Amino acid sequence: MIVYKCHRCGFILLKSKEVLQPKEVLGKLGLKRCPRCLAPLSETPKQIKLTPRPSYRRRKKPFIIRLFK
Ligand SMILES: [Zn+2]
Repeated sequence: MIVYKCHRCGFILLKSKEVLQPKEVLGKLGLKRCPRCLAPLSETPKQIKLTPRPSYRRRKKPFIIRLFK
């Protein structure tokens, strides 16, 4: 699971099982700004957090990609 979040407020823009380019995410959503805080979103990720799931745990930790201007 990959989670795309607003860089400013952390609003979850999209959850996806596939890896998408930020451009594709914004295209899918038809957004250029965060719907919650109106921060401008760009096609370049600001922060990519990759959290592999430990095999001994059931809980899935998502990958987090934050979009920014
Ligand atoms: Zn936001």
